[in-house]
Amino acid sequence: MLPRRSYYTKSMRIGVLAIQGDFAAHQLRLHQLGVESIPVRKAEQLAQIEGLIIPGGESGAFLKLLGDDFFAALRIFVNSKPTFGTCAGAIMLATEVLGPAQPSLGAIDMTIRRNAYGRQIDSSIRTGKLASSANNTLSEIEMVFIRAPKIERIGPGVQVLATEGGTAPDGQPDIVAVRQGSAMAATFHPELSSDSRVHQLFVALVQDYCKTGATETSK
Ligand code: GLN
Repeated sequence: MLPRRSYYTKSMRIGVLAIQGDFAAHQLRLHQLGVESIPVRKAEQLAQIEGLIIPGGESGAFLKLLGDDFFAALRIFVNSKPTFGTCAGAIMLATEVLGPAQPSLGAIDMTIRRNAYGRQIDSSIRTGKLASSANNTLSEIEMVFIRAPKIERIGPGVQVLATEGGTAPDGQPDIVAVRQGSAMAATFHPELSSDSRVHQLFVALVQDYCKTGATETSK
């Protein structure tokens, strides 16, 4: 019999929501990491995957294209299984969206404001800091921001994974990537940099989920 870990690693499949936005870049990154992925275009496909990436794009368009049934199925998925949202995907995962307010899936206890950076830094490539789970140190990482949202508040159960710059009102760095339970979000686009560390973090989360069969209750 195969050891548990290799069994799950072999059978692990990550879906990428592919109704709009830059889903292809996420699939390419997963392929580079040796992880099988499928484009998810229908609610039924959620049953075939162990984890989901909601890519960047336009969160308002996501809401329109999803419709009520797919939205409801996604809400159940993201609140119980590993999900990673980037940019518009991060907006989708928040409990509260501002600028303007809009419905969201509520997997991460945070308030996020759409298009929150002024025109000048509207889209840019910057260097931020990524937390390493191994030894609690921070290391530099390239971050691509495209009409990025801003995380304005996080709840007590939310872990900061990455920060950038210091444009918060108190001069503190902005929180640009977070995790709560098996949900992860980044306001930048790690799929557009050559560095694969952020995706590796998510793949590890999915592997962990497969090993332990963690459920919503472990959040
Ligand atoms: N501005 C977009 C939104 O509000 C997000 C941009 C992105 O995903 N690159 O949904």
